[in-house]
Amino acid sequence: MRGPLIQLERLERTYTLPGIEVRALRGVSLRIDRGEFVAIMGPSGSGKSTMMSILGCLDAPTAGRFLLDGIDVSRIDEDGLADLRNRKIGVVFQSFNLVPRTSALANVELPLGYAGIPRKRRREMAESALTAVGMLGHARHLPSELSGGQQQRVAIARAFVTNPSLILADEPTGALDSRSGDEVLRIFEALNQRGRTVIMITHEPPVAARADRTVQIADGQVVADERTAVAGDRGSNLGARKRR
Ligand code: ADP
Ligand code: MG
Repeated sequence: MRGPLIQLERLERTYTLPGIEVRALRGVSLRIDRGEFVAIMGPSGSGKSTMMSILGCLDAPTAGRFLLDGIDVSRIDEDGLADLRNRKIGVVFQSFNLVPRTSALANVELPLGYAGIPRKRRREMAESALTAVGMLGHARHLPSELSGGQQQRVAIARAFVTNPSLILADEPTGALDSRSGDEVLRIFEALNQRGRTVIMITHEPPVAARADRTVQIADGQVVADERTAVAGDRGSNLGARKRR
């Protein structure tokens, strides 16, 4: 099951605006293997969200290649991409993006409906995902009746309920207090320990330190790519929870 899940080859993304071209990604090459937990860091405007949109198959590069599971994503048609997004990729945003006026349970069931899973099975799977994030007791609550941390846990349940191999998260703890943020990080760690590949954008070094590896982006390019120090290395205690 090892081997590359993601290969970016000299990836570029240029936004063309009236009178100006913004080169958001300027030749990013990167390989991420199945089962990795990678943090993406970099200053505001460096291209992190652009890269995440491409990894999530929501946007396409203007040059270079993106292979997902060995497949060149640019060769897949719109229907194929929608299917791929639904089956293989779960996405989590800073602002949760739950559907308002719809219960936590219905939010988590949503991607299962798109996947054509029968109603009864949908309910079971959504309840099991809510249980995994400690939110089954709030299944009937609306997003507006939940705290930020609780909404994010529901959003994560929605992201993994289809059992995707890749979880993408763009600043998932950015809007949370440190305790709720920690709960969210523990869920990502648990998902990763059960084999999911997790890629998380953050600009907080202690959050990045929870990942196995940190890729630094600046000005649309990869400027550093390092393994996280584990407990014992350089006397760091960052890796204390990383005993595997
Ligand atoms: P980050 O997530 O690291 O803050 P982004 O990927 O959002 O960076 O943005 C990278 C660059 O691309 C910035 O200069 C930003 O203004 C520009 N950009 C992002 N999205 C768009 C867009 N839809 N249209 C035009 N420019 C964009
Ligand atoms: Mg961003």
